[in-house]
Amino acid sequence: MAREESEETPASAELRALMVMASHDLKNPLASVTAHVDMIRADYADVLDERFARDLAAIERGLGRMTRLTQDLLDYAKADHTLDITSVSLSGMVADVIADHVLTGADPPEIVVGETLPDVPADAGLLRHVLDNLVGNAVKYARRATTSRIEISAHPQIDGSVLVEVADSGIGIPAADRSKIFDPFHRCANSAGYPGTGLGLAICKRIVERHGGRIGVDQNPGGGSRFWFTVPDIDKP
Ligand code: ADP
Repeated sequence: MAREESEETPASAELRALMVMASHDLKNPLASVTAHVDMIRADYADVLDERFARDLAAIERGLGRMTRLTQDLLDYAKADHTLDITSVSLSGMVADVIADHVLTGADPPEIVVGETLPDVPADAGLLRHVLDNLVGNAVKYARRATTSRIEISAHPQIDGSVLVEVADSGIGIPAADRSKIFDPFHRCANSAGYPGTGLGLAICKRIVERHGGRIGVDQNPGGGSRFWFTVPDIDKP
């Protein structure tokens, strides 16, 4: 099943196409520079003097930021593809997303998943992107030196939609930032020291709204944040 939307003006469609092209074309040279910097680090590890090591670390940090930004810009543009709606198993998808994040994390959080996660009508690739971002943020914005706890649950609503929640015990969203965190490039005052581009939640919002749903965040009672989004029933748009 495919859903089309035609709210975009020709000028913004052209801008978006340009953004895809630019970010796509930047990926290969960036990967090549990163590979060469990795080789330099490996080949010269024993002879790096302090200044060289500092400069190399600065290059690596800059490359890391550019790589994240390029990928996020591509993902932002991809959120506008035609939706391919199928019945998606939330429980299977959540299990995959958790496996990815726990495998890549050094200090694994405690993750609790609600008992019954229903199937939802959604574009599987894009829905996965939303869950990936929300769970990734819950893992990333943990309080330092504490084991974080993340709860993922889903609740069918009276109107046939499903409310999905990702709650964490992390650093939380300052009240002044709460209305802006879904804007592209917005990063909260307390996010210094945590890597990011400020695009992830803007991508999530675009994807959720294209499915006809809503997304938001509340304070988690007991500390941290509680992100939620809805996936409407396809028969009741
Ligand atoms: P980023 O790439 O910066 O993580 P996002 O768009 O995903 O970008 O998030 C925007 C901002 O919202 C982040 O920079 C961070 O300040 C805040 N944020 C997002 N998720 C969380 C969370 N789970 N806990 C605390 N702050 C968060």
